[in-house]
Amino acid sequence: PQTHFGFQNVSEEERREKIYQVFENVAEKYDVMNDSMTLGIHRVWKDILVHKMNPSPGTLLVDVAGGTGDIAFRFINYVRSVRERQLQQKLKRHQNLSWQEISKSYEEEKVKPLGDSQVVVCDINKEMLKVGKQRAQHLGYSEGLSWVLGNAEELPFDDDKFDVYTIAFGIRNVTRIDLALQEAYRVLKPGGRFLCLEFSQVSNPLLSRLYDLYSFQVIPVLGEIIAGDWKSYQYLVESIRRFPPQEELKEMIEDAGFFKVDYQNLSSGIVAIHSGFKL
Ligand code: SAM
Repeated sequence: PQTHFGFQNVSEEERREKIYQVFENVAEKYDVMNDSMTLGIHRVWKDILVHKMNPSPGTLLVDVAGGTGDIAFRFINYVRSVRERQLQQKLKRHQNLSWQEISKSYEEEKVKPLGDSQVVVCDINKEMLKVGKQRAQHLGYSEGLSWVLGNAEELPFDDDKFDVYTIAFGIRNVTRIDLALQEAYRVLKPGGRFLCLEFSQVSNPLLSRLYDLYSFQVIPVLGEIIAGDWKSYQYLVESIRRFPPQEELKEMIEDAGFFKVDYQNLSSGIVAIHSGFKL
């Protein structure tokens, strides 16, 4: 069917531009809207993504289409908590450590709370990155965090660089998904992991009807009330409906060269996490 954005009739370049405008328009209100549209559940989905990643200290992560930093901040919190636990275990194991040794360990922890872990947030949209940087400053994240303007279809990174590649609610906005997947493969180290969190297909027919009603009737209204922007939120709903279902995305990820590709449905398939490895 013809959609509001007339996806069938526009060139890739026009589509890219329209998507850029959508995120430029919503950047300031993006986080509030996320909470109100998903009733805060996007936070749980993102937590599950980072738990699945289970990063160890030293992990180098690139979060593509990283927007305002939600995945990056969760990654940092996770690694910090792993480091804290390790420190506590170390202290427990060596109960007879001197005070000097204990305080030295704490000092090291203070200076390098992430160990050698780093996260690079990469997004095509300057406005989203700007809001992300402001949030990072406000929330006190700086160590191990950097922001890079870049297109998922042509990443500005060397080959074999990252341990993990994440893309959360981003891949459906990318014009050429096949290229983005190839790029994900290229920038990962051998053994590296690809993780994608994205809206997907609800299998339960009753839930699917309710979800459709909510998406098409409620979300654009919320967009208008909160962000004064009906069209951008209508785009978001349409882009979710047009996105390939779980099995199809799995095949696309395999076609890009990934191994051991599987997915986990969350909230009855409203979203899914796809995972794959570069061998
Ligand atoms: N990952 C964040 C989150 O989960 O909150 C942001 C998701 S937001 C729905 C989608 C993001 O994808 C936007 O920040 C947008 O600028 C970005 N994006 C769209 N097309 C892109 C592309 N080709 N390359 C990189 N980022 C892109």
